[in-house]
Amino acid sequence: MLNCDRLQRRKARVNMEGALVARDQVGIQDFVLLDSITSETAFLDNLKKRFNENLIYTYIGTLLVSVNPYKELGIYTKKQMENYMGVNFFELPPHIYALADNAYHTMLTEMNNHFILISGESGAGKTEASKRILQFYAVSCPSTSLLDRARDRMLVSNPVLEAFGNAKTLKNDNSSRFGKYMDIQFNREGEAVGGHILSYLLEKSRVVYQNHGERNFHIFYQLVEGGEEETLRLLGLERNCQHYCYLVQVRTAKEPSDLKISCIPVSAGRGAARITVYLFGIIGSILHLGNVQFEADSKGYAHPLTACCILLQLLGVHVQVLQEALTFKKIEAKTEEVLSPFSVDHAIYARDALTKALYDRTFTWLVNKINESLENKDSTKKTVIGLLDIYGFEVFYVNSFEQFCINYCNEKLQQLFIQLTLKSEQEEYEAEDIEWEPVQFFNNRIICDLVEQRHSGIISILDEECMRPGEATDLTFLERLEERLGNHPHFVTHRLADQKTRKTMDRGDFRLLHYAGEVTYCVVGFIDKNNDLLYRNIKDVMHQAKNSIVKHCFPPTEADSKKRPETVATQFKSSLMGLTKILTAKEPWYVRCLKSNEDKQPGRFDHVLVRHQVKYLGLMEHLRVRRAGFAYRRRYEVFLHRYKPLCPATWPHWRGVPADGVERILKHLGYSEDEYKMGRTKIFIRHPRTLFAIEDAYEICK
Ligand code: ADP
Ligand code: MG
Repeated sequence: MLNCDRLQRRKARVNMEGALVARDQVGIQDFVLLDSITSETAFLDNLKKRFNENLIYTYIGTLLVSVNPYKELGIYTKKQMENYMGVNFFELPPHIYALADNAYHTMLTEMNNHFILISGESGAGKTEASKRILQFYAVSCPSTSLLDRARDRMLVSNPVLEAFGNAKTLKNDNSSRFGKYMDIQFNREGEAVGGHILSYLLEKSRVVYQNHGERNFHIFYQLVEGGEEETLRLLGLERNCQHYCYLVQVRTAKEPSDLKISCIPVSAGRGAARITVYLFGIIGSILHLGNVQFEADSKGYAHPLTACCILLQLLGVHVQVLQEALTFKKIEAKTEEVLSPFSVDHAIYARDALTKALYDRTFTWLVNKINESLENKDSTKKTVIGLLDIYGFEVFYVNSFEQFCINYCNEKLQQLFIQLTLKSEQEEYEAEDIEWEPVQFFNNRIICDLVEQRHSGIISILDEECMRPGEATDLTFLERLEERLGNHPHFVTHRLADQKTRKTMDRGDFRLLHYAGEVTYCVVGFIDKNNDLLYRNIKDVMHQAKNSIVKHCFPPTEADSKKRPETVATQFKSSLMGLTKILTAKEPWYVRCLKSNEDKQPGRFDHVLVRHQVKYLGLMEHLRVRRAGFAYRRRYEVFLHRYKPLCPATWPHWRGVPADGVERILKHLGYSEDEYKMGRTKIFIRHPRTLFAIEDAYEICK
């Protein structure tokens, strides 16, 4: 009965939406289904034609291409959500909701785990896409009132994380400066019952320094400009960003962070107010610490110019002890501790290291706190949809260690995409003896290896240099790179620049020829950022803090440990490997976001820019593989089990070989031989429409 209802509903909707479908017949809504698109030019023309009609979504099979319109299109209404609920992929115009809905229904039917990989360069629309998907699930999934809280928390966690983890950059006014992977957990009934967030490498250097035209994390401005009078008074802050060294940057037009602080839901339940006080206490302290200046005495040693007494109140640390920790290093000799004084530069370095660590660890604490509130403790079987919204490929005028990590991450995701689609698809045809014309594609494995290979990759070489304190510098690191990687086809330094890319470059730079284009990195700061040293006495002081978040963030085990911590790049590399593992165990869905222009201009389609992205994202190759390929494949047993009611010969039991049973079903339904192929263990169906017709037949007969 229920199924019939759903079918009727769907049929009615398709008729009702007929007009909508017709209206969307601008260009081609799925590159695969129509054969006229063979060249890159035709591909781009189609994207542009649709973009000009405000149709930002196009499919390549089940992959969704999205072009950032930089304007509100009114396509994310509740009505639109309802349109897409429970409808097959190709029945309605392409939409992010269609993809979300299909992932969801496939998960429920097959009881397996999925992930949606959202990729594209900075500012292409990844974070917006992930928010839309989350909102769609919030509306479309069934729910009992008890569960609403888990669902609502998932939604409200977003603005909190954005406040602390996003900032204005030259590429994007609301750029995510951390990577985010979020699992949404569903029970058998399809209710969203819990969630879990993993965060990746927050760009903490932004706390103390921002490039020209960029800003610090939103939360600082939200607090200083939007915080209530009383909050500011308690934190000892003035309502003037220019007053704080960490924030003095030229302000530009209104930005998304200009929210009132009271809009930010920080936490729920008892103790929330207290925690909020601690949390804002930390943000306030960072601003105060940034203003701590030092002067040199006659020997050149640093002394703080001002005593920052408010820190006692906000962090709960003894100001004098803290000042000592910022101006002396504790060295353990055999029987005693010796204090070695810092120069002014060194003291500033120690101060900045502290504020960065404080911010970074508070962010991790916040993610954990959110996870606690999203956790679902009941042990019934759940399936998940993972949403991956991670920083996109970045090329700035000056690129540093952070861009190196971010772009390495993008190489890894591209590699995963290649393995899961292009490569595995072709290997599967081969394994199944399906006739197949191989499609050539650029495999970026070589660049991943260049960065991450043990002993010989850039990260290993950097780590080796970091093991030689006092001797190694950023420039010796560059020399090592030159010695050991000079011959690599994707690595260039200034000596080799003319030969390989015919462009000169600075002495302190190296260039990587990434899959998405070349990026020149300036080595200044690589050693420091990778080492990420925080002096032990500073950790000790922080552990003694009365502010419970701070205390929690600096556990005593760490202060005691003599073991050398892993470097930042190596930690990042391990966490990306962990992520790859999480993802490869799930069924993939892809959203490829394209940036329409560099100036954030509404409705402008920059042909050259889009073409470049289409190229490096491998969309043409993907299209070729998809077009030559088959939209759907299932093991004979699985297919037979589901669809055997459709054919008298196979119902209720088929006693022969499963493959024969499957063929009987397809013949019975009247499909011709060019619509499917029989592999060794699987049935391959060319067009999704064929499959949907079978599904419809199944629902009617059920
Ligand atoms: P990314 O996460 O890829 O760096 P964002 O998702 O933050 O990029 O998008 C950058 C900006 O582009 C957003 O703040 C918004 O103004 C605009 N934008 C992105 N996607 C859309 C969309 N689907 N519709 C309208 N505007 C969008
Ligand atoms: Mg983002």
